[in-house]
Amino acid sequence: MPNTNYMMSLVDREQMQGLENIREFLKIRTSYDVLPLSFRLIVLDTDLLIRKSLAILIQNGIVSAPLWDSHKSAFAGLLTSTDYINVVQYYCQYPDRLGDIDQFRLSGLREIEKAIGVQPLETISVHPMKPLYEACRTMLKTRARRIPLVDVDDETGREMVVSVITQYRILKFIAVNNEHNTVMLKKSVREIGLGTYTNLQTAGMGDSVLSAIHLMVEHNISAVPIVDANNHVLNVFEAVDVIPCIKGGVYEELQSSIGEALSKRAEDFPGIYTCSEDDRLDSIFDTVRKSRVHRLIVIDDDSRLRGMISLSDILMYVLLYGEENDAVSPDAV
Ligand code: ATP
Repeated sequence: MPNTNYMMSLVDREQMQGLENIREFLKIRTSYDVLPLSFRLIVLDTDLLIRKSLAILIQNGIVSAPLWDSHKSAFAGLLTSTDYINVVQYYCQYPDRLGDIDQFRLSGLREIEKAIGVQPLETISVHPMKPLYEACRTMLKTRARRIPLVDVDDETGREMVVSVITQYRILKFIAVNNEHNTVMLKKSVREIGLGTYTNLQTAGMGDSVLSAIHLMVEHNISAVPIVDANNHVLNVFEAVDVIPCIKGGVYEELQSSIGEALSKRAEDFPGIYTCSEDDRLDSIFDTVRKSRVHRLIVIDDDSRLRGMISLSDILMYVLLYGEENDAVSPDAV
């Protein structure tokens, strides 16, 4: 009979070795290495009207963009779906100011944050030539899902936004360049406790878009799984789904159902990704290698919701497990 204790520790040791190799890899690579050979970067001027920025994001199939203050010739932060959710909250608090919302410029986003009482997002950025490991730690610490890479132009001495790196790009970079290390990660999602399994926030197809937005704000999450009465997973409503909902400036439409909103998704929407608690981390890296995953919804054999694995959960495990007294939490970053 095989000695299970011994076998367990072999798997454990191999897993730890795989994680350490990946961390070493991240320390010798820079954020610059993650960028493709050629890429486009859409930067929005802070003088642009918020409603126009929505149309530009949609036309270009993007969900965020760095902001540029042309008065100061300086980088002015990153525009993300959180900013639009803030606009929605502003509308909820001041519904009679719809006319003002129509005239708000991107420079007014900070005023909106103040008016609704949310903490302004940190204007963080990293230098593209710094180790990727540092960019990852900064991401986990600030809970930023994407970070602009900002360099200084040698000639003018001014800041210059090079690109934006996302958690997905980093995980994909790890997956593509570390297959020999990711195959060592043989422990299952259940064994390593990857993701969230308690206090899951869900909604139904008939619930309003606004109710899903409120759940995201209240619980600081960027996706709400959509389930039926028996907890079978039907879809997921994401923070980025808010963008098409408000593009026409008709905020009353947020009262319409999640089902209707999801029907407005782009035709090339890749769908949702699921996994089981028995799936191993190496197979999750296979999925990241092959597909544009935003998050994994953990389901049981009957497609019922069990948990949520966000990209930050994966990144946090890969960077922090076994370090700093095993505390895999943002406080430990
Ligand atoms: P993104 O998925 O947009 O890249 P992120 O990685 O920060 O961003 P979030 O979806 O905001 O992920 O998740 C933050 C934390 O909340 C994670 O630990 C995740 O497991 C958990 N979580 C995600 N969705 C839910 C949900 N619907 N209910 C409860 N917890 C959730």
